Amino acid sequence: MPLVPMRQVLEEAAKGGYGVGAFNVNNMEQIQAIVEAAKETRSPVIIQASRGALQYSRMIYLRNLIMAAVEEAPEIPIVMHLDHGNNLKTCKEAIALGFTSVMIDASLTENGQEVASYNYNVATTRSVVEYAHSLGVSVEAELGALGGIEDGHGANLRGDEHLTDPNQVEDFYKKTGCDALAVAIGTSHGAYKTLRYDKDHNPLPPALALDRIEEIHKRVPELPLVMHGSSSVPPELVEIVNKYGGAMKGTMGIPMEDIQFGIQRGVRKINVDTDGRIAFTGAIRKVLWESPEKFDPRDYLKPAREALKELIKSKMIAFGQAGHAGDYQPITLEDAKKLWYS
Ligand SMILES: [Zn+2]
Repeated sequence: MPLVPMRQVLEEAAKGGYGVGAFNVNNMEQIQAIVEAAKETRSPVIIQASRGALQYSRMIYLRNLIMAAVEEAPEIPIVMHLDHGNNLKTCKEAIALGFTSVMIDASLTENGQEVASYNYNVATTRSVVEYAHSLGVSVEAELGALGGIEDGHGANLRGDEHLTDPNQVEDFYKKTGCDALAVAIGTSHGAYKTLRYDKDHNPLPPALALDRIEEIHKRVPELPLVMHGSSSVPPELVEIVNKYGGAMKGTMGIPMEDIQFGIQRGVRKINVDTDGRIAFTGAIRKVLWESPEKFDPRDYLKPAREALKELIKSKMIAFGQAGHAGDYQPITLEDAKKLWYS
C-alpha cells in the first residue's frame, strides 16, 4: 500500500470509532519496530518526524527509511507526517520530500519559544493549508499551547496554562480549513508531565481538562482531534531504566483511560514519543549492564527494537486501531485533491 494522506486514516478512524497512534522516529530500528507492530496487529499507522528528528537524521535518510517500511508493508496504510512544523518553509520542505501530512504549529511563534497571537495562528495555518491542500497533503494545526518541550520546541509552559478555548474552535476551523486539530487539555511533552503529588510526594497523573474535548467535539463534530504528549510513562518501564543504572525521577503520564475517554469523543490521533524512548533505552541499558563485555551495537539495538515493538503493539490494541488495516482502499494525494480540496 502506498503512503496515504492522513485525512483518510482519520476519517476511517472516525467511522470505526477508534484512535490511531502517531509514533515519532529518528532511526531505522524505531521505524522497523512500528511497522512490525502494525503488521502483527494489522493496524493503520502514522509515522511522524519532528524537525529535530529530521535534523538528526539529515532528512533524506529518515524519508528513505520510511519509504522502505512502506515498500515492506504493502498491506498497511501508512501516513508520513511532519510533527510540529514551525513555518510554511519547513512544511514545504517536508512535502517536497514526500510527506503526506504536515503539522503547522503556529500556536507558538516561529522559534517555538513564545505563545503566538490567535490572528498569527490563523494566518500562518491558513497559508500552510492552502499550499498543502493544493497538493493533496493533509494539515494538522494546534489551538491553545501545550506544555513541556519536545526537541527544543515549546515555550516551557505548564501543561495547564494555555488550554484550548472551545469558543475559538469553530472560527479557527472555518478560517483555516485544517484537517485535524491538536488541542491543549493539560498534557505536556516529555516524561515529566505532572504537577500533582500525593502527601508522601508520590506523583499523581496530570489533571486533564477532559470536559474541553467533549465541548470541542460537540461544536465541530467533523474535525478529528489530536492529543499530543500522550505517553503514559508506565512505572514498569521507568523501573527498568533505573534498575540498570538510569536515574529517571518519579513521574506519571496520561492514564490510558483518559485517552480512551478522548477517543470516544472525537480524538483520532494520539501522539506517543516518550514511552517509546523509555522502552528503547531501558532495553539497551539492560544489555549493557548485564553484559559489559558486549560491544556489537546489534546486541543492544535488537532487544531495543523488540521492546519498542511490544510497547507499540499494546498501544495499537488500546487505541482500537488494531485489525483495521484492511478496512479501506488507499487513496493517493491526487485523489485527495479532487475528493476534499477542489
Ligand atoms: Zn507535540
